[in-house]
Amino acid sequence: MPAHITHQIFAEEVIKKAFPRKGEEFYKDHEKLISFAAQGPDIFYHNRKSRPYCFKYGKIVHSSGYGTLVGYMIRYALSLGKTWNSDMGAFIIGFSTHAILDRKTHPFIIYFSGWVEPGRKATRKFYRCHPFFERVLDVLTLKRRKGVEVKNYNFFSYMKGRFLETEIPELLLFSLQNTYPDLKNPAINMHCLKNVYSDALRFYKLTDPTTTESQIRAYNREGKKPPVRLLSLFHPHDLPRNIDFLNLSLKEWKNPFDENEKHTDSFDNLFDQSLEEAAVVAVMVKETMEGKISVDRVVEHIGDSNLSDGKAAAGRQPSFSDPLPLWELMELNYHYLEKKR
Ligand SMILES: [Zn+2]
Repeated sequence: MPAHITHQIFAEEVIKKAFPRKGEEFYKDHEKLISFAAQGPDIFYHNRKSRPYCFKYGKIVHSSGYGTLVGYMIRYALSLGKTWNSDMGAFIIGFSTHAILDRKTHPFIIYFSGWVEPGRKATRKFYRCHPFFERVLDVLTLKRRKGVEVKNYNFFSYMKGRFLETEIPELLLFSLQNTYPDLKNPAINMHCLKNVYSDALRFYKLTDPTTTESQIRAYNREGKKPPVRLLSLFHPHDLPRNIDFLNLSLKEWKNPFDENEKHTDSFDNLFDQSLEEAAVVAVMVKETMEGKISVDRVVEHIGDSNLSDGKAAAGRQPSFSDPLPLWELMELNYHYLEKKR
């Protein structure tokens, strides 16, 4: 699944496409909330420090129930009389974009980054190539779609907003409790949702691409032999030009879970296809909040299938890949920091 900068840029483009007349202004008015909402359930993955935490909700929401969850968000907003262009409406629209981009691009990311198979030594080098590739895609998406170099992009400044002063934590709590009513351990509550936000902020600050200080600190913590490859969580500032990270050559690749599903799309193509789909969803959310269509129609349209590829059964293992030399790039970064020490 793409990383945070790609999701943020995607949500912005979805809104401008879905609402050609008002999108620009709507986005500007709610930029921080939408940037945060666009992260979808990924925010839970950063909640590893502050207890009680609800880290597991990252996996749970990615596995099933996304359409239902957005449906409960809309119902909650409507019960409070919120309009589509309120803070809450903006959050729901931003949140809905996440699923569409994840489902469309995740197979591409797995195929080109590979994975570690227990007991197979040769696959060890793929450790953490997946999150690193997501950061590579962030760097290239930012450059190609906004013309900005990652080292000049202060992502953290978009996240540090008034999230906790809004009614969004209540919205999330209501929707999660209703979508996953049987989940007791961990049970979701307001305290852990606040921890989710503060831990996510800490993570974005720590991995701020405008400084290499945290990278050097992470490197020093790990030592020369990278056991956990912390550097995979940082955006590389320089990328070699001779590696086709985006598959611009349109070479054939497969859904790693399904050899019969073949593609020749580049990452840009997948982004554009997702844009079309998510713009339709954004308009549907708006129209539902205006009472023009039923909540059930949006729920059905988004669907409850997983965000991995929208169809693979939970727990199914990927089988097909053609990994890019991402481990080599990570190694280069370790060597580079070793010299800077
Ligand atoms: Zn995700």
